[in-house]
Amino acid sequence: MVTLFGPVRDGVPVYGSGGFTSYSLANLQQQLGGWSDNGIARVKMKVGRDPERDIDRVRAAREAIGPGTELFVDANGAYSRKQALAMADAFDEFGVSWFEEPVSSDDLAGLRLLRDRAPPGMDIAAGEYGYDLRYFRRMLKAGAVDVLQADATRCAGFTEFLKVDALCEARCMPLSSHCAPILHLHLCCASPRVRHMEYFHDHVRIATMLFEGVPAPVDGVLHPNLSRPGLGLEFKHADAQQYAI
Ligand SMILES: [Mg+2]
Repeated sequence: MVTLFGPVRDGVPVYGSGGFTSYSLANLQQQLGGWSDNGIARVKMKVGRDPERDIDRVRAAREAIGPGTELFVDANGAYSRKQALAMADAFDEFGVSWFEEPVSSDDLAGLRLLRDRAPPGMDIAAGEYGYDLRYFRRMLKAGAVDVLQADATRCAGFTEFLKVDALCEARCMPLSSHCAPILHLHLCCASPRVRHMEYFHDHVRIATMLFEGVPAPVDGVLHPNLSRPGLGLEFKHADAQQYAI
């Protein structure tokens, strides 16, 4: 597939993504630390469901991954503006370098406020809900993010994702793919502005159950297998049978 799109790289760095708020501290540390031990250079955890616990959870995550792995947080728009500003300062103590949806993605002025006032070295990211090119253009025009995110399963597929990449190119902005790594891999190998891909725990788990040919990161980078046709995947019909309805 990437050959058809026009490759610009032969692999894409990933960030391990999970760290759900339902996890115990031990589970959180085990998952994020595991990715870090496997050579993935950046990991992401959820925050915002229970703000009083967030600092302890972020501290525990940092302890598990050590100083050399980037730590990302995703609030899914859960904080108010002023709360998010305070949390940005608090997360900075633990070297958080990516603050995703600190406030609602509908609040472009709020994202801009965070972008302007977050500590140096902390990127503000959003864009996962974009369904058309105008959504991404509005977000970029508002100066709402340091890194734009896009999801090819939502934004009208591969074609629109490539257009979002072109929008980023025109504004010298980086792009990161949201979820569904097996669908984004070939696309991201053909998108010049892509910085990294989200290696989302639940999607990797389900993809591995249902498809042959799911690539695993090597030294934190996913490479498409060009010896296989299409996306390099084959549906495991027999394994899927038990889930038929
Ligand atoms: Mg998110």
